[in-house]
Amino acid sequence: MRWEDARRSDNIEDVRGDGGGGGGGFGLPMGGGGLGIGAIVILAIIGYVTGIDPRVLISGIENAGGGQMGQSYSRPGASQFSDDQAAPRSGASRRQAAAPTDQMADFVAAVLGETEDVWTEVLPAQRNIQYVRPKLVLYSGVTRSGCGQAQSAMGPFYCPVDQKVYLDMSFFNDMKRKLGGGGDFAYAYVIAHEIGHHIQNQIGILGKVRERQEQASQQEANSLSVRIELMADCLAGVWANHADEKWHILEQGDVDRAMATASAIGDDRLQKASQGYAVPDSFTHGSSVQRAQWLTTGLKSGQIDACNTFAR
Ligand SMILES: [Zn+2]
Repeated sequence: MRWEDARRSDNIEDVRGDGGGGGGGFGLPMGGGGLGIGAIVILAIIGYVTGIDPRVLISGIENAGGGQMGQSYSRPGASQFSDDQAAPRSGASRRQAAAPTDQMADFVAAVLGETEDVWTEVLPAQRNIQYVRPKLVLYSGVTRSGCGQAQSAMGPFYCPVDQKVYLDMSFFNDMKRKLGGGGDFAYAYVIAHEIGHHIQNQIGILGKVRERQEQASQQEANSLSVRIELMADCLAGVWANHADEKWHILEQGDVDRAMATASAIGDDRLQKASQGYAVPDSFTHGSSVQRAQWLTTGLKSGQIDACNTFAR
């Protein structure tokens, strides 16, 4: 895959250095952007003296200080937080100022930039909807998301609540180990698949399916999840179609390797994903044949409408 000349997105939130070791002293989900242990101790003492729950103090300070987290752990079913509407905050812009410089992160920024450029044109053209550029959070190990705690064991996922993609790039190493070399385009496809969930969110499908799933039997709910995942594969293909048209990104063997990826990702590691509201890339993806078919459908057509996995 050719990507070196691509514009880099500035919508990366790099929290890898935030020591997202998880677990504050009080069983709080202290992920990236959390307070230092000293501050927590002081707040705990203030809480003890004043009788105020220290968790309230901590989240108050984080919000005031520009933490982007909101109260993800307390309202798992909430569909919207007031935080979502806010413009980039000081915390986020600080992170952007320290743009990632390592090659893998640079690659992610390039692919994210390409998804932005493609969908900024394609979504209005095909659906008359303005594309909202989602953030992509690079983390390592553990961090908090609007959908609860993010752990690398979950694999990459999209959180519709905060409209962010969460990615621990160690996942790419796993792909490589499992597949004997994932390849650039296979990694790009993973990112484009998550962005596909964002497109689903923007066109309203994600919300509708969530609603239906709440009424549905387990089996029906799973079947709906499969359709959501296959559609995201197809939308990744739509992106690749337009990206290739614009920049000739595809090289010999790229698509085959992405197909291999589509069928290979999903098992043990991803299956652990069980975030209630997130869109985890669990093994409810459909068969490898289905995945490859839908990726191809998107890739060949370049049309969102061709990705209606609910019609069949
Ligand atoms: Zn997915």
